[in-house]
Amino acid sequence: MLLQSAAWLLLFAVLQLVLCAEDYYKVLGIDKNANDKQIKSAYRQLSKKFHPDKNPGDDTAQGKFVEVSEAYEALSDPESRKIYDQYGHEGLKQRQQGGGQHHDPFDLFSRFFGGGGHYQRGQPRGHNLEIKVGISLRDFYNGRETEFQWEKQQICEECDGTGSADGHVDTCGHCGGHGVRIIKHQLAPGMFQQVQTQCDACGGRGKTIKHKCPACSGNRVVRKPTLVSLKVDRGAARDSKIVYENEADASPDYIAGDLIVTLVEKEPDMENDNPEHVDGIFFRRKGNDLFWREVLSLREAWMGDWTRNLTHMDGHVVRLSRKRGEVVQPGHVEAVENEGMPIWDEDGDSVYHKTQFGKLYVEYVVVLPDQMESGMEKEFWSIWQKWRGKIGVDLHKDSGRPDAPISDQGQEKKDEL
Ligand SMILES: [Zn+2]
Ligand SMILES: [Zn+2]
Repeated sequence: MLLQSAAWLLLFAVLQLVLCAEDYYKVLGIDKNANDKQIKSAYRQLSKKFHPDKNPGDDTAQGKFVEVSEAYEALSDPESRKIYDQYGHEGLKQRQQGGGQHHDPFDLFSRFFGGGGHYQRGQPRGHNLEIKVGISLRDFYNGRETEFQWEKQQICEECDGTGSADGHVDTCGHCGGHGVRIIKHQLAPGMFQQVQTQCDACGGRGKTIKHKCPACSGNRVVRKPTLVSLKVDRGAARDSKIVYENEADASPDYIAGDLIVTLVEKEPDMENDNPEHVDGIFFRRKGNDLFWREVLSLREAWMGDWTRNLTHMDGHVVRLSRKRGEVVQPGHVEAVENEGMPIWDEDGDSVYHKTQFGKLYVEYVVVLPDQMESGMEKEFWSIWQKWRGKIGVDLHKDSGRPDAPISDQGQEKKDEL
């Protein structure tokens, strides 16, 4: 009995050892064949989530923050990823002892988001940036995972944001590292004015670089086209905003502000947005409702017996029809339930929530023929004459309005003068 529990204890200890070194792919929540982009994006999200500044006093979060940066470092470098895939944690440990680099998790964080790797403690923050992204009505209806590109200022990867080709940064000899110089102006004999100006030798940074990084020319940052993935929820409101925390321009001098994306509805583009030629992309949206104008001929509006198949934005068909004898007045508006926009919900269409839809309003426009074959015209005319004679109503006579213009009696009289 005692032996058995000792064995259990041993097994437990071994299990714990294994658990200690959590799988890097699991840490980042990605799968084994994730690409670079997925690894980066997982790090971006998780490092912000577990950053100690955002979770003060939470040791678990702090541990996760370190774990996430370790996992990112191991998997973002193709060589170390290969070693890790083959030999696991042990393999990486040996490589590190052999002189592999190991970064401070805050350094790594600052390479992504700028600043000194911290959110607080007087760390200045960059401006928020607003971008408009055009989304077609069809994508608002169906929801879509897409991406957009913008020219983002990034910390130069070549020099890790130092601006120096060899890693050497010197204190400016002109200003002694203060970034400012005091200049004395003589106003009059014996009278001086002291003016503080930005040091022009170092541009106010207090540091100079002999060998400038060729990638950023010593600027420490570069502007590069950057892809951002964008998820448009089903039924997202027009002009709704998506906030990407700390994803605006990065700089070693400040922590990046937020990138704010506004989803603007763009004009439908017949070629690119409508390969299947659906009517739906030309619907007009107001809130959760959609609007459409359907044209009927005089015969259809009057006599009935017609069908229209509208193809909605996801390809399903909305059937509009009238039986023989059912009249549609010009300008009539028909409300079709549940054929409007999906009504946005946090849970989307899931086990927790079934998507509701707004209405589709169809306005009927009736077009009268302005030309008729003469034989047809004659036949119609005679039918009208026949039925007018029998039961015809004269709307003009019934209205009681006068036949001739009402003329002022006074004016009819001859002018007496
Ligand atoms: Zn200087
Ligand atoms: Zn550089």
